[in-house]
Amino acid sequence: AAGKRFFDDCLVASEAGMLWDTATLAAAVDGRLVRDVDRPSRRFSTISTDSRTIGGQDVFVALSGETHDGHEYLIQAVTNGAGCLVVADARRASGLPAACIEVADTLTALGDLANWRRKAVQRLHNPVVVGLTGSCGKTTVKEMTAAIFSCRWPDRVDRPPGRVLKTKGNFNNLVGLPLSLLPLTTRHRAAVLEMGMNRPGEIARLTEIADPDIACITNIHGAHLEGLGSIDGVARAKGELFDTVDRRAVLIVNLDDERVIACARRHDRVTVGFSVQPGRRPVDALVWAADSVADGAGLLTFRLHVGKQQARLTIRAPGLHNAANACAAAAIAHAAGIDLACIVAGLESFRSGANRMQAVQTHGGIQILNDSYNANPASMSSALETLARLASARRAALLGDMLELGADAPGLHEAVGLQAARLGINYLGLVGGFAEDMKRGALAGGMHDEDIVVLQSRERAVDWLSELVHSARLQTGDWVLVKASRGIALDTVVEAFVDRC
Ligand code: ATP
Ligand code: MG
Repeated sequence: AAGKRFFDDCLVASEAGMLWDTATLAAAVDGRLVRDVDRPSRRFSTISTDSRTIGGQDVFVALSGETHDGHEYLIQAVTNGAGCLVVADARRASGLPAACIEVADTLTALGDLANWRRKAVQRLHNPVVVGLTGSCGKTTVKEMTAAIFSCRWPDRVDRPPGRVLKTKGNFNNLVGLPLSLLPLTTRHRAAVLEMGMNRPGEIARLTEIADPDIACITNIHGAHLEGLGSIDGVARAKGELFDTVDRRAVLIVNLDDERVIACARRHDRVTVGFSVQPGRRPVDALVWAADSVADGAGLLTFRLHVGKQQARLTIRAPGLHNAANACAAAAIAHAAGIDLACIVAGLESFRSGANRMQAVQTHGGIQILNDSYNANPASMSSALETLARLASARRAALLGDMLELGADAPGLHEAVGLQAARLGINYLGLVGGFAEDMKRGALAGGMHDEDIVVLQSRERAVDWLSELVHSARLQTGDWVLVKASRGIALDTVVEAFVDRC
């Protein structure tokens, strides 16, 4: 019966959208149809978890999170037009004028619906689905890959919206990935999905839901250590992508990262390796970058090799690590059968997301490398390296805490200060609970006490930056790196400083 239902679902598919009926919904989530719709022909176009924005064509899935229980919003959902409710307890929906499907777990149901949609579209059309995870660079590689895919499959003016589906923003968890995947229709030629996690088992489940044709682990570093115990725990959890993905999927492997290589080695699969280490090429890397140059204006130029072909290109993404991200995207695109010309055009059209290695020019002439989006030890190190290589007479860094590092946090912050000093950063402004640890490292690295300032608030950080300019310690053309975990909100400092300049 489920098979027949599946085929029926395929039949109601159209290029404009694929519609759900209640029997299909119940089959997809393995749920009990407690109450059906009044009108048997009624169909739904969208699955939603937000009772505020729900429309008349929507199914409402009542998720229970840490702070909200979706079951408390059933009345609001129905008032706003929801025609079908997916709930864990049908009694909570009794008396409401909407169809109702009861399931054991609504979060699982949301993922099951996304997977059902993915399979239904696959039967009809077979788009390329990419799943990518890693400690850093997921969103960047996702956006770069989508930029290449959009070059290969450009939007058609006559049939909006686009033909490339991608994770919205950072919607990469057990709620976000299904919501990103659910809009998939036969119109799409490709979907690029970011997978994030805090716990073991999450990447395996996301892989099951998305069932990627191409799977990429960008890198494995010490991020989110709190939920996973150790870097080996991180590696195991990220490795679930390669462990769970279909046997026919192509694995995209970062050959500069031993942990990623180890994840791939466990499986006998088709792989495309990438590398940015000059020495590594061409042993097994099919895709590699050489001769990377980051210029003073925040552009990155390098030579990209794909198999026997090569091209020189310039991307609008400062940060040497972005050559690695571009290689990952190129390797994914190559696995999808896209040629080098399209890969180059796509990468050159890429724009980095807000607060991620954004080069900001201030009126006063100081240039800010705004990387305030997030931070972990690997991305901190890479950002400091980038700062050190920018053409600049003097360099300053405003750094804040890297969160979620567990017991190793003080030592890891000390290492940041040490690295900043060794790279010759001239002035350090430090914010947050680990500022003293960073300062200790910087002093150990030989920086002078008067060039390191522990700042008690974000307002003080703005004052510190202004003071560097007024005292002419920083002058026109000089660079300031701004970076910390998202929770420290240094983006507000950048905004306030730019306004003040
Ligand atoms: P999140 O876990 O928050 O979703 P993400 O993996 O999606 O992060 P991005 O948003 O692409 O990562 O980048 C976040 C920051 O990580 C960037 O601002 C940059 O500093 C750093 N970063 C990106 N790519 C790399 C890389 N390949 N190596 C080291 N650092 C990187
Ligand atoms: Mg992300």
